[in-house]
Amino acid sequence: MKTAIFPGSFDPFTKGHYDIVLRGLSLFDRIVIGIGRNGTKHETFPIREREAAIQKIFADEPRVEVQIYDCLTVDFAKQVGAQFILRGVRGMADFEYERNMAEANKELGGIETILLYTRPEYAHISSTLVRDLYSYNKDVSDYVPNRLR
Ligand code: ADP
Repeated sequence: MKTAIFPGSFDPFTKGHYDIVLRGLSLFDRIVIGIGRNGTKHETFPIREREAAIQKIFADEPRVEVQIYDCLTVDFAKQVGAQFILRGVRGMADFEYERNMAEANKELGGIETILLYTRPEYAHISSTLVRDLYSYNKDVSDYVPNRLR
């Protein structure tokens, strides 16, 4: 069984993230969305709320699981039996970062990273944008999956 983890902060989970998972399902039998506890990043949405919201989005998709993790990404991949790391690339800014991470994760855990290019209509969407809008009580429904509203 081909399993991938889709690691990230998902603070919050956006339509861009959603699209990567849906497309990942055509490549992998099982995707475990890993919400990383990141000590250095300030969180806007509490991690348990993020977990519950993402679980709700994929409630009808048994091939997608959601877990919070608190360790190196390669160790999380091993824990859940994943051979791959799935990530999305929006543009050049993401690319260099992803290349370094992919190399590190290959060296540390022998895990391959599979990158999918973001669909152009979602390329400008980031969790940061949603957080900013949210903090000013603006409508975020264009940027987050239906069930997150
Ligand atoms: P991290 O803090 O690890 O970068 P994020 O939650 O910001 O976590 O992102 C998780 C993954 O989703 C990353 O691979 C990121 O490039 C990807 N991603 C973020 N926004 C989008 C988007 N709009 N479309 C597709 N992929 C995205």
